[in-house]
Amino acid sequence: MRRIFGWLFGALFVLIAVLAFKTWQYKPEVQSEATAFDLGADLERATGALSQAIRFETISQGDHQAAFDGFLAFLQSQFPKFHATTERTELANNTVLYKWAGSDPALAPVLLAAHSDVVPIAFGSLDRWSYTPFSGEVADGYVWGRGTLDNKGALIAILAAAEHVAATGFAPQRTVYFSFGGDEEVGGKGAKSVADHLIKSGVRLAWSLDEGSFVLDDVIPGLDVPVASINLSEKGYLTVTLIAEAAGGHSALPPRITAVGRIARAVDRLQSTLMPGGLDGVSAEFFDKLGRYFSLEKRVLFANQWLFSPVLEEVLSGAATTNAMLRTTTAPTMLSGSNKENVLAARATAKINFRLHPRDSIDDVIAHVRETIDDDQVVIEVNRDFASEASPVAPTDTEGFRQIEQAIYSTFGPLASVPGLTIAATDSRHYAQVADAAYRINPFIVKNDDIARFHGIDERLSIENLNHGINFFGKLLLDQ
Ligand SMILES: [Zn+2]
Repeated sequence: MRRIFGWLFGALFVLIAVLAFKTWQYKPEVQSEATAFDLGADLERATGALSQAIRFETISQGDHQAAFDGFLAFLQSQFPKFHATTERTELANNTVLYKWAGSDPALAPVLLAAHSDVVPIAFGSLDRWSYTPFSGEVADGYVWGRGTLDNKGALIAILAAAEHVAATGFAPQRTVYFSFGGDEEVGGKGAKSVADHLIKSGVRLAWSLDEGSFVLDDVIPGLDVPVASINLSEKGYLTVTLIAEAAGGHSALPPRITAVGRIARAVDRLQSTLMPGGLDGVSAEFFDKLGRYFSLEKRVLFANQWLFSPVLEEVLSGAATTNAMLRTTTAPTMLSGSNKENVLAARATAKINFRLHPRDSIDDVIAHVRETIDDDQVVIEVNRDFASEASPVAPTDTEGFRQIEQAIYSTFGPLASVPGLTIAATDSRHYAQVADAAYRINPFIVKNDDIARFHGIDERLSIENLNHGINFFGKLLLDQ
């Protein structure tokens, strides 16, 4: 008996020692000391340019052609040295592509991207804005208005940096393309036309950089360092329609299961059966890098995934934000049945929207739907024209990734840099077609309070952030 206790005690001691050792080993990677960088561009002029840019109501939906024409002409007059240095091509849906030819044609080109179109002001919300959304008001250290965060702030930061660098006589070794999409919010045919144009011209990009994430400050609970998430991929998109047909008739004589009941059961089965997912691939990289910055009790879990991965995956699956990083998400969004309360539905439908993790294909999701519903009376309809696979996952062991990471460090100082996954669809999925690696981050600090401003009320960008953006893109340009 005593011997067994001895064994148990010994085993426990070994276990605790292993957990402690692994936790001790698991710490933030030492960042190479990046020296702070200041491009020295004219911030006041850039602030004025962003303010003016906001005044063009370049809304993607409806007819706003005059606003787009005005905006594109404004860019030409506002950034003359950039325009004198580059070759400009107008492509689909008010999208413009600029080419700044490098001195060494042997080097693969790169692409910096942003978009000029914006979402409309939500109906009935106008009087809740502190400043009229298209006034471009400069007040309290911010430029206010629709498009400041998404995405004219980045567009102006890129151009202000390029204008400054061009004025100094700098000439890149590597060809740099600049792409400004005009319809990102409604599908990105513009960005697609850029990818097609480059493919037709025989261009293969080393990398592209577009929106998709930010430097998140105080957004992730439990972390007291800002996190720059440089996203390597974006999730795919798929909507399936479930259809059940039945005889219909009077609701006083219902069958055992009605069309509505069949659809409700199918939706419930899908809702309660998560797509498989876990800590592998880009999700593993993200949480592995991020976990190092958490407090000790959480770090023990991340450091010892050999033991705790089931617990960890359970916890991460419990919150919407982390769950979306782990797996393909399932969201029932629309339902229809009978149009009268005492009439049985002859046809009931439900729409389920999926956002595909890079490990799953569209066909994998359809197979999951069929298997989970397990009802051959439910027809599964798929609109493949609106579906897209998840983007390829960009590698992190490239010169481009290192340059982007270094530009982040030199702009923002010490922070946690992690590779991430964009959970919504952006223009980047098109650029990814023509690039060996598509990276996604906007060099702005976003706090919790800013999240609701995206596509929302009181969208604004601080002048300090605009300065960060100009320095980041300036550093990146000078590295080419
Ligand atoms: Zn955007």
